[in-house]
Amino acid sequence: MALPVVAIVGRPNVGKSTLVNRIARKNEAIVHEMRGVTRDRSYHEADWNGVHFMLIDTGGIEMGDEDAFQKSIREQAFAGANEADVVIFLVDGRTGATPDDIEVARVLRKSGKPVLLTVNKLDNPDKEDEALWEFYSLGLGDPRPISASHGHGTGDLLDEVVEELAKLPAHEEVEEEEIINVAIIGRPNAGKSSLTNRLIGVDRSIVSDVAGTTRDAIDTMVEHDGKKYKIVDTAGLRAKSKIDQDVEYYSFVRAMRAIDRADVCLLVIDATLGLTDQDQKVAGYAQERGCAMVILLNKRDIVESGEQLEDLRDRIHDRMMYVGYAPVISISALTGKGVLRIWDAIDKAYDAFSRQVSTSKLNAWLEGVREFGHTVRKGKAVLKLKYMTQTHICPPEFTLFCNQPDLVRENDNYQRFLENRFRDTFDFEGTPIRWKFKKKD
Ligand code: GDP
Ligand code: GDP
Repeated sequence: MALPVVAIVGRPNVGKSTLVNRIARKNEAIVHEMRGVTRDRSYHEADWNGVHFMLIDTGGIEMGDEDAFQKSIREQAFAGANEADVVIFLVDGRTGATPDDIEVARVLRKSGKPVLLTVNKLDNPDKEDEALWEFYSLGLGDPRPISASHGHGTGDLLDEVVEELAKLPAHEEVEEEEIINVAIIGRPNAGKSSLTNRLIGVDRSIVSDVAGTTRDAIDTMVEHDGKKYKIVDTAGLRAKSKIDQDVEYYSFVRAMRAIDRADVCLLVIDATLGLTDQDQKVAGYAQERGCAMVILLNKRDIVESGEQLEDLRDRIHDRMMYVGYAPVISISALTGKGVLRIWDAIDKAYDAFSRQVSTSKLNAWLEGVREFGHTVRKGKAVLKLKYMTQTHICPPEFTLFCNQPDLVRENDNYQRFLENRFRDTFDFEGTPIRWKFKKKD
């Protein structure tokens, strides 16, 4: 079900992430003091008075010469407005209206979308008026004073957002079709863009011509065998920083963002280099966030021997047990070998990720567990599993009712036993599974 989209557009440093942090349900947008840092668009679920929406922070794009900067600001505003149902145009009350603000305002006026001009950093409500006046010049009507960091005015702003959303045509009917969101993640040079091009079927240059500029992760819609996929390529960042650590760090941040809005992620590992810390960290994050996963060992065409690939598979098995559900496929993004198998793996992972198992089947399975007899004891207490039901999909979550939930919660081995047995029966390959244990006498 598609949620209505509210985009926050504005120059870097006006306080977009701070505002997102205040509004979003999960506190996950990254705020930093540093200027000139690349940021993807980030997506956050939010609600206000029971109205749910998707909040996009369009990021700030900066650096490069003036022309490139102006262009990127325009593009960012344009993209944000395009994608959104309502736009919050955020400006900085301390700097006044800058030429960039005027530029963005022009784009937004043309977009035809409802725009809420919002002046941030007015931390002292008594002094508001003066700073507000000059923003009338942007031609977007009344500016709204807020302080994203203190929270003044944000409630009123959200009231207005919700009012605008209420004017939209019923949203749920607009987009019924299922789209699988696929994120391609992995270290720089692992072969992400080569793979993206393979999957999309066109050679798409991802390197910006203007030195020092950066770009957002690019989403591309692809159809394969009649199904729709949105491929999120996180390869965009290229040697933008002279410091390797920065490149590595930001590629990690991008991966996290992409994972946050993906159903299935493809973790691309350079098989000639083997498993790195970052691969493990990213995989762990995907697991935590409940994202389905397929692991791809890329560059098999130049891997020295089959043995080397086997070794790598073993290492993955040993070091990344927490994503043991992820299938591992060796491919060559360069020659295309193995690439077709990826589609099947994505479909299978997504099916598992979104699958709902009937309560009767679950309880039949649980009966089998009871008959098997393996249980947990502590002192006189004996764990008794009563019944279970599926409480979520995407990813699947199962709630198991038992006499003494703590006995399972404290016992990782028993949880693993349950999960392994469960997966043997139901085959949830590709997706993490969540377990909840609740008390029932
Ligand atoms: P973004 O680049 O637009 O996402 O801006 P950030 O949210 O990263 O904020 C940039 C800087 O402005 C940070 O140092 C924030 O702490 C600061 N900031 C954001 N909102 C406010 C505010 O309401 N008042 C003040 N005084 N500072 C703010
Ligand atoms: P990204 O940074 O993860 O997007 O990596 P790229 O797709 O740009 O690939 C990095 C380098 O590895 C490029 O020189 C690619 O041509 C090369 N490459 C990618 N996939 C393969 C592959 O399967 N085999 C070989 N031999 N080279 C590859």
